[in-house]
Amino acid sequence: MKHFDVIIIGGGPSGYTAAIYLGRSTLSVLVLAGAQPGGQLIFTTEVENYPGFEKGILGPDLMMAMEAQAKRFGAEVLYSQATKVDLLGTVKKVWVGDTEYRSRVVIVSTGASSKMIGIGEDKYIGRGVSTCAVCDAAFYKGKKTFVVGGGDAAMEDTLALTKFAAEVTIIHRRDEFRASKIMQKRVLENPKVKVVWNSEVLEINGDPVVSSIKVKNIKTEKVETFPADGVFVAIGHVPTTTIFEGKLELDEKGFLLITQTALMSGTKWRVSDKDIWKDGYPTMTSVEGVFGCGDVVDYRYKQAVTAAGMGCQAALDADKYLMEHASKY
Ligand code: NAP
Repeated sequence: MKHFDVIIIGGGPSGYTAAIYLGRSTLSVLVLAGAQPGGQLIFTTEVENYPGFEKGILGPDLMMAMEAQAKRFGAEVLYSQATKVDLLGTVKKVWVGDTEYRSRVVIVSTGASSKMIGIGEDKYIGRGVSTCAVCDAAFYKGKKTFVVGGGDAAMEDTLALTKFAAEVTIIHRRDEFRASKIMQKRVLENPKVKVVWNSEVLEINGDPVVSSIKVKNIKTEKVETFPADGVFVAIGHVPTTTIFEGKLELDEKGFLLITQTALMSGTKWRVSDKDIWKDGYPTMTSVEGVFGCGDVVDYRYKQAVTAAGMGCQAALDADKYLMEHASKY
């Protein structure tokens, strides 16, 4: 059985950033990057908003570079998914099938996936379907675009698109939005925005890129086809936390709670608001020695750069924790 200082579960920008920092700190690191390593960026084409790449970089290239950088500092990377964890006590145990790995610290960076409508839209990702307008709106200059959803993310995507697209039409399944009133107001007052209420997207069509969508009014059952260049799906996210259920505290939507987010949301936590900086581990989860970072924690921003930043925070906390608790091992 192999023993590491740190096991990082998840191979997206947060996990690899944590691996780079901890590897440079001469700790032994195992990254369980999952069967499809690279996180959400693997499904992205051009990334234009990650600092340092003036001309942009392809999502998979960015992830390969992060992985190579982590390996340069000694991280061992396995393209496997953790299947079981035992995180209590000073020795953390993580299994991949029947193989057990042990460590002193675990960092959870398993990410979140965008909820999809489920009409086969995945095949158009990067070819007219997007789950991130902040990332992709600029590619739709003068185009006909649609946003699906009625929450704050849908409003934010709509506003991002109005800066570039010729038209933005929101398709929402009910007759009112759940988004905050201020976001709704901004959206509804924008002359580029139309809303198709009480409706669902039945089909997305086009070859090889999106050219039309078929929409059904749930109340009248009327079906209409609209010409479309882009469809932005903004119906929420599902954090990857199933193997941590009952082991680490999660919020009501399944996102991993860390000290910072728990205290912000008023959750009863093992340290008080006042102690957060004294305790010194804002990224520690409900279990000692286990830290969280990236989209699995972040229900709000979900950007590669914010995930990388959180990976750095978790690594610095983990490093500090290992130094302060060295006598335990
Ligand atoms: P959300 O608030 O859960 O909203 C999801 C929206 O998608 C809802 O309108 C929902 O419809 C719709 N939806 C869900 N499943 C659907 C399906 N299968 N088909 C069609 N529509 C579906 O999620 P979110 O907008 O991603 O926001 C997540 C959190 O981040 C929220 O707490 C939000 O306030 C926050 N956030 C804040 C900001 C901001 O303040 N600027 C920006 C982004 C996110 P129903 O309404 O009918 O359920």
